[in-house]
Amino acid sequence: MAGDFSVTFWGVRGSIACPGPDFQRYGGNTSCLELRCDGQLLIFDAGTGLRPLGEQLKDQGPLETDLFLTHSHLDHIIGIPFFKPLFDAASKVTFWAGHLLPEHHLREVICTLMVPPLFPVPIDIFAAKTLYNDFAVGETLTPRPGIALRTARLNHPNGATGYRVDYAGKSICYVTDTEHVAGTIDANIVALAKGADILIYDSTYTDAEYPRYKGWGHSTWSEGLRIAETAGVGTFVAFHHDPSHKDGALDRIAEDLAAARPGSLVAREGMTLRA
Ligand SMILES: [Zn+2]
Ligand SMILES: [Zn+2]
Repeated sequence: MAGDFSVTFWGVRGSIACPGPDFQRYGGNTSCLELRCDGQLLIFDAGTGLRPLGEQLKDQGPLETDLFLTHSHLDHIIGIPFFKPLFDAASKVTFWAGHLLPEHHLREVICTLMVPPLFPVPIDIFAAKTLYNDFAVGETLTPRPGIALRTARLNHPNGATGYRVDYAGKSICYVTDTEHVAGTIDANIVALAKGADILIYDSTYTDAEYPRYKGWGHSTWSEGLRIAETAGVGTFVAFHHDPSHKDGALDRIAEDLAAARPGSLVAREGMTLRA
């Protein structure tokens, strides 16, 4: 069907994966999204959620995908060595990052992750054709015909990139990890999210928790709602849940969110939304 544009959540946590009985309903894997633009696949972030996504993809034949990183903190890249399509010689994976230049390059950063004694094998083990693209945050990317990707700088230690994907007249905006400045609204993010159908936003903390973690680089769902309102966003999705937020805590956030702005959602593993 032409114009089918969706996002599926494979990892919704921030900081570190948190398996166990208290995390079954929302999931414990760290950041990973699957975007489908009809037959084309884009992946955002490579947290532990990338591993189960790869398990599903490996049975679907050779893969061609672009994988966009918000940044290279461990919770967003640790899934890379465990992504099955990277071990398939018929597949092609293009990695992208916008926060590293000019001091670093993406290939070098992934090499640093996969180096003994931290990891037994280097990136040369990948059989797939791999490309590592660094861009300057703020650039607009066109990885595939018909898909436009805008990028914006986020407020996060070591930098991070927010993305907006426009396809078939619809848009999905992915904004994690970022910290707001109390009393102001982030004009960069508002501009990026203007009129988006879906905004996925760093909602690591509640308003009550945030003061203890000021400066850690994360935000709150209530700040996300302010941005959603200002930018005229369709559906707001709270994302990058703190590992201390068990299912019950996320249920309460879901209730508060829905009361504050009906239709808003708390991201959970396995959830698919159509733009
Ligand atoms: Zn993170
Ligand atoms: Zn981070």
